Order: sequence, then structure tokens, then C-alpha cells
Amino acid sequence: MRRALFPGSFDPITLGHIEIIQRGLSLFDEVVIGIGINTTKQAMFSPEVRQRWIEIAFQGEPRVRVACYTTLTVLFAREVGAKFILRGLRSAPDYEYERNIDLLNKQLDPSIETFYLLSSPQTSFVSSTLVREVIRFRGHLEGLLPPHIIADIYKLYPGGKPVTE
Ligand code: ADP
Repeated sequence: MRRALFPGSFDPITLGHIEIIQRGLSLFDEVVIGIGINTTKQAMFSPEVRQRWIEIAFQGEPRVRVACYTTLTVLFAREVGAKFILRGLRSAPDYEYERNIDLLNKQLDPSIETFYLLSSPQTSFVSSTLVREVIRFRGHLEGLLPPHIIADIYKLYPGGKPVTE
């Protein structure tokens, strides 16, 4: 059984994350999506909302499971029985960032191997940070997030419509 942990903040999950997870399912038997809860960083969406949105995105896919965690990623990987970590790479800065995390994780637990998938050109510009900016300034979210999340977020807009329409 090849089980991978896909860790991240997912604040919120984007089409970029979803693409990496779907491609990960062709490499691994199971993917556990781990929502890392950073107690020192203020998130836009609660862990419960982030988890529900991910569960809806993968409902009907029994090989995907979602859980929140507050510990080190390698410790959580061990806890869920994942021998692999899956990450996405969009750009050179992503590589620099991931390299340090990889070296640290290897030091903490050399038995866990991390796999990287390059993002597709359609989603390589998408980040949760940019999506949160679009939400704050009420821009259109089509092409960035799955439809069920867009529908929930548009309900939060007073008047129900983004201003860039
Ligand atoms: P973090 O908070 O650690 O940056 P994120 O929640 O933003 O994590 O993302 C989790 C993983 O998904 C990371 O490996 C990140 O590089 C990857 N990722 C995020 N957005 C995309 C995208 N558009 N395409 C491919 N991978 C992505």
C-alpha cells in the first residue's frame, strides 16, 4: 500500500492543488490531504470549512481522505502511515522553499521520501494567497477554485456578485 500525505494550508484549496492530488492518485494507492493548522498565522477560512470544501471536492473518491494536524509534517505522515509526501512545484521560488523543507524533513525522518509534481501551465499562476486577494477585492473566482467553493464564497458577498462582472 503506497500512501502519500499531501500537506498544505489549503486556505482555500485551489484548482492547482486539486490537479496535483488527481495526478498523485495515479502514483499512490491513497492520498491523505493534511490541513496544517498554523496557530500563529491567521487563516481566512476555519479548519472546518477548509476540510468540508476538500471533502466535497473529492466525494466519491475513496482513495482520498482529509484530516487536520497541528504537529510537524513528518510526524503526521508517520501517524497516518504515509511513507511518502507529495508536493507541487510551480516555479523556481517554490523549488528553493521546498528544498529547505525537504532537507529538514530528511533530517527529522530519513525514511520518508517526498515526491514533486510540476504544475500545469493552466494552474501554475494560482496560489491560495492570490486567491485570498481576489476574494478580498471581490474579483471573479472562475478558473481558480472548484464551483462549489466559488458558490459558497459568492454567497458571502453582500449583493451576491463580484465587482469585476
Ligand atoms: P503552503 O502553505 O505550505 O505553501 P499550500 O497550501 O499553498 O502550502 O500548498 C500545498 C502544496 O500545494 C505545496 O506543495 C504547493 O507548492 C502546492 N501548490 C499550491 N498551489 C499550486 C498550484 N497552483 N499548482 C501546483 N502546486 C501547487
